[in-house]
Order: sequence, then structure tokens, then C-alpha cells
Amino acid sequence: MPSPIGHLLAGYVVHSIRGERFQNKLVFFGTLFSAVAADLDFLPGIVLGDPNRFHHGITHSIGAACFYGIAMWGALRCCRVSKTLLLALLFASAYGSHLVLDFFSVDNSDPRGSPLFWPLVDTYYIAPVSLFLDIQRPQGGTLTLLAGVFSMHNLLTILWEVVVLIPFVIWAQQRRAEKQRVLRPVGSFDALTGVDSLGRRSSKETGQ
Ligand SMILES: [Zn+2]
Repeated sequence: MPSPIGHLLAGYVVHSIRGERFQNKLVFFGTLFSAVAADLDFLPGIVLGDPNRFHHGITHSIGAACFYGIAMWGALRCCRVSKTLLLALLFASAYGSHLVLDFFSVDNSDPRGSPLFWPLVDTYYIAPVSLFLDIQRPQGGTLTLLAGVFSMHNLLTILWEVVVLIPFVIWAQQRRAEKQRVLRPVGSFDALTGVDSLGRRSSKETGQ
């Protein structure tokens, strides 16, 4: 499985594609949270003194992503937030990005992969070709796990995730910049660059 950093980068890409329209920091952080939410399955194990006990179970399935989206939709509706369906789809997509990254990563712990099609079938699936390496997690208690994850292997794993995902992040940023340029009204100036949507500099900039 990739590290939280890899999952957060994937969440950033998902937000750039589907979440930019909301222009809201809560939506941004909600998308990032959703991208790592599947790994909350560490929590019950941490409480019981065995962090790996429930990891890579049913939270790593398309069914869980659907339930997550439905729960988000319900919670947003309760809070009387507008565009609840679009937001729920955004958060479910970010949750799904987690499954994609895990599917394409090395997994050295049995059973390998994730029960992707739970609750229909309990079979575990993993891609025949891995794009990402495996974060090594020592078996044992929480302290053993925390002490063991800070290793050279895991540092290299994270660096490799960044190398693989950075092209997607750059593409997403360019896409976002292009969208903002198109959406900005003609004649309005970007506060950051002082350039309008037609590429003209503001009068303040030019001294006119
Ligand atoms: Zn995971």
C-alpha cells in the first residue's frame, strides 16, 4: 500500500479535476481526507493494540466507497449544504482514488490486495503490475509499528510515489489554471499576476 502522502497527492488531483468549481477550503480538505479515509481501518486495531488487525479489509472496497458517498450525501443534506450530490460524488471519487493506488501497489502481507467487490464477493484483488512500492509495517503493537515505519525503505517508497504522481499533479494544476483563465470574466484582473483574462496587464502594473 502507498503512504498517506501518495494518497493525499491523488486526492489533490481528484480535487483539481472535480472540486475546483466549489472554491471552498472545506471542500478541498474534505477531498484530501476522503483520499485517506479508507486507512481509518487502522483505528480499531490501534485501540486493541494490534494496528494491522483490520487493515485492508472491507474499507478498501468499491462497496465502502459507495457507502461513504451515501453517508457524505446524507450528512451534507442534514447540514443544508447546497450541491450535495456533486460534493458526495467528489468525496466518493477521492475515496475511490485510494482503492486505485492500493490496487497498483506491492502488497507483501496476506491476503494480498483488497476485497474490491465487497459485499458482492470477498475475494482479494491486486494488479499484476505494481506502480507503487509497499510501506513496510512491522507486526506488533502501536509503538512497534510507529518505530518501524521510519525506515529507509519507506522513505524511498514515498519518494517513488512522488515521482510517479507529480506528473498528474502538474497536469491537474495546468488544467485548473486553464479553467480559471476561461472562467474569469473578460476584463477582470487576476490579483496574483495583475493580468486579465485576455493577457493584458492592469493599469496599476503598467503605470497608466
Ligand atoms: Zn489503504
